[in-house]
Formats: sequence, C-alpha cells, structure tokens
Amino acid sequence: MRITMIGSGYVGLVSGACFSDFGHDVICVDKDESKIAALKAGRMPIYEPGLEALVEKNVAAGRLSVTTDLAASVAGVDAIFIAVGTPSRRGDGHADLSYVFAATEEIAAAVTGPTVVVTKSTVPVGTGDKVEAILREKRPDVDVQVVSNPEFLREGAAIGDFKRPDRIVIGTEDDGARKVMQGVYRPLYLNESPILFTGRRTSELIKYAANAFLATKITFINEIADLCEAVGANVQDVSRGIGLDNRIGKKFLHAGPGYGGSCFPKDTLALLKTAEDFETPVHIVEAVVKVNDSRKRAMGRKVLNALGGAEAARGKSVALLGLTFKPNTDDMRDAPSIAIAQALTDAGVTVRAFDPEGTEQAKRMMPDLTYCSDAYEAATGADAVVIVTEWDAFRALDLTRLKQTMAAPVLVDLRNIYRREEVEALGFGYTAVGR
Ligand code: NAD
Repeated sequence: MRITMIGSGYVGLVSGACFSDFGHDVICVDKDESKIAALKAGRMPIYEPGLEALVEKNVAAGRLSVTTDLAASVAGVDAIFIAVGTPSRRGDGHADLSYVFAATEEIAAAVTGPTVVVTKSTVPVGTGDKVEAILREKRPDVDVQVVSNPEFLREGAAIGDFKRPDRIVIGTEDDGARKVMQGVYRPLYLNESPILFTGRRTSELIKYAANAFLATKITFINEIADLCEAVGANVQDVSRGIGLDNRIGKKFLHAGPGYGGSCFPKDTLALLKTAEDFETPVHIVEAVVKVNDSRKRAMGRKVLNALGGAEAARGKSVALLGLTFKPNTDDMRDAPSIAIAQALTDAGVTVRAFDPEGTEQAKRMMPDLTYCSDAYEAATGADAVVIVTEWDAFRALDLTRLKQTMAAPVLVDLRNIYRREEVEALGFGYTAVGR
C-alpha cells in the first residue's frame, strides 16, 4: 500500500519507518527542512534505539523516502497519516490543534483521489469531525474518509512497541476506511495483535483515558512513597506487594520524581479541558495534575535537604545524572530535571549535568548549567550526585571512584536504583524515594 506520513518526529518517523519495514511504500513529510536534510544525509533528527538502521534499510530498499513537499506526496496514496505535534495551548491547557488543522488544509489543497486521512496525533474528542468538515468544505469533489488511530508507542522502546503493540485502536464507522486500515495493519493482524474497531470519538477518548490512567498510577505510587517515608515503610516492597495482584499489575508502580515527557503532562491537561468543556469533571485527573506539579518542586527541596537545607546549600555544587524524562530518548519535553535544576539554581546551587543523549536538547532549554561528558566528570567537586533519570549507564557506577572526585559523598537516588546498605557502607549519605 502507499502511505504518506505528515510529521516526521518521534511518532511519524518511527511509524513511517515501521510501515515501510512491513513492505508498504511510505513517504515521510516534514516542514522542518533541517530534519529532512538530516534524514537525507543519513542522520537521525532524534535519538531512538534501532531507528537509524531501520530507516537506512528501508530507504535502501526503495520503500521509504522523505520530503518537505507535502502537496506532491499525497497524490494517489491509500492513506495519509497526520502525526504532527499537539502541544498544550498556552494559557488554558487545551491541545493546540493548529498544526493538525494546518496539515488538513494542505492535504485538502493537494488530495487527488479517494483516500483515508488518519489522525495519529493525540487529539481531543471531536477533532476528527473538524478535520472531516475542513476536507468536505474544501474538497467536496473527492471521497476522503477521516479515521482516528491513536499511537501508544513509548519513546525509547518505540520500534518494538509499534511492531508488537498491545493493541491497535481504529476509530471509524466507514466500511471502506475500515478495509484500508485493515490493509495498513495487515502484518500485525497476522501477528495476532488485537485490533479494536470503535467509533471515531471513542477512539480519540481511548488515548486520553489510557494516558490519564497511567499518569494516575504513577502519581498514586508517588503519594504512597511519601507516606512510606513518613511511617517508615518501603515503597518498593509496597509496589511489589500490590503489583503482584493481577488486577493491579506491576507496571507504572515505580516511585520517582513525578511524570514528565511529551505526552502525560499535556494530555492530562487536555483531558481536563475537554471535561470542562462538556461540564463533566474528572476530579481524579485534576488531583493527579496538581499532585504531580507539586512533586516536581518537592524533589528540588529533597535535594536541598540532602545538602543540609536551603541555607547550607547556597554556593554548593550538585551533579545531575540523567536529564531526559526517561532513559533511551533525547526528549527533554517537560522532564522533571528542568524543575529540579531550576529549584537548585534558584537556591544558589551550581548545577553540573550529564545525560547520555539529551545534552543537545537540554542545552537549548537550560543554557546556564555546566554540561559534562560523563557521570564522573559531573561528580567532580560536587557536594551531591542526584540520579534523576535511570539510564543503564548509572545503574552500576563505580561509587568508590565517584566518591573520590566529589567534595562530599552524598547520593540522592530519585529512581531507587541503588541499595541503601551498599551505598552507606561506602561512606555515602543516601537519600532515596519512599524508602
Ligand atoms: P514531534 O514534535 O516530535 O513531531 C512533530 C513533527 O511534525 C515535527 O517534526 C514538525 O516539524 C512536523 N510538522 C508540524 N506541522 C507540519 C506540517 N503541516 N507538515 C509537515 N510536518 C509538520 O511530535 P511527536 O512526539 O512525534 O508527537 C506527535 C503526536 O503524536 C502528538 O500528538 C503526540 O501527542 C502524539 N504521541 C506522541 C508520542 C511520543 O512518545 N512522542 C506517543 C504517542 C502519541
């Protein structure tokens, strides 16, 4: 089949590369000329494990191409996916749909024959109706069906998630569009990946409900972690103790510095806005957003406390290990490290930072930090080392070597990856989360 992917970011490029790997002919479009130029030169504009080899293989096979020319890429294709960004709109938290509608207008101007337009971007309920209205108004002459197909891949594990999804959700009431989507996902259909066909509005809401539920699970265990600290219990054991219950499940029960990233913060806010617009409040999600926001600030205070309090911390130096919102990505959007670094610099602390892949993006957002080339360089002269993101490279640090370079041996483990006894036996002061 012939597929066009509009937007070649974390979702569009991975989806396009995977579709081409299934054997479809795919064109990935982006209006960001530097991204397309990088791709044409064989460089990935983002860091995602396995992506470079997948793109290279399918470009060489002639199944995958990239362009900035949207108009030329939509003529005569079976499906046009919209995978552009839907960030939070400044001021009210609603999803900013301007990129989605701009892409729709461009599609309307260029579309030639019967086709299916698929919103893969995360969009609020009713967006598909608006996309359809634009297409009907601008191009009453062309048979275009609008389908919702939200994406559930996780950055850092995106290719595996795309090729072996827990489920595929397709929102359409149209039989022809359904057949096209079955063709698009046929390779996964044969793998027995469950495909759930729903109404378009239901499909749009499934994505927000899934992300709000996961954000709730994380926030729940984070509050339980605070309670563990207060009562002298261990949150890791509590997680295990409840997660082994099949009704609860083990995943997303790791206490930490609060959720961040390109999806949960903006999608929970957008869900609240939808709930407000339809006068049907979702109080649980309201609480989750509030608790998570205050948690990020609380993590800054936790680090200051490990330094002996805000007064004592002034003039000291802290090494932050891991800046991206999770390991195996370079994505810095809404990462907890941003709030922590801000709290520390506000308190007069010098921040030295290291991240295996996120430094370039981090430098653009936090130009005033001192960036280092590995964990040991970051720890040099530091009064505390803080593990913010659990990259594998931080799981087996040589603590003796680390201690030798530090001004004072203090480890703040916001991801609970070390054992207290081992760290303390080496003479470190150790602060964890909920233990
Ligand atoms: P991104 O910012 O990485 O990529 C979006 C790309 O779209 C950018 O490269 C931008 O230049 C391009 N673009 C915008 N308007 C365009 C236009 N008119 N024509 C061509 N290109 C255009 O965003 P992302 O992280 O890939 O997210 C895309 C969507 O997928 C969002 O709605 C997001 O919520 C959703 N989503 C993201 C993830 C994730 O892990 N990142 C997971 C699931 C769903």
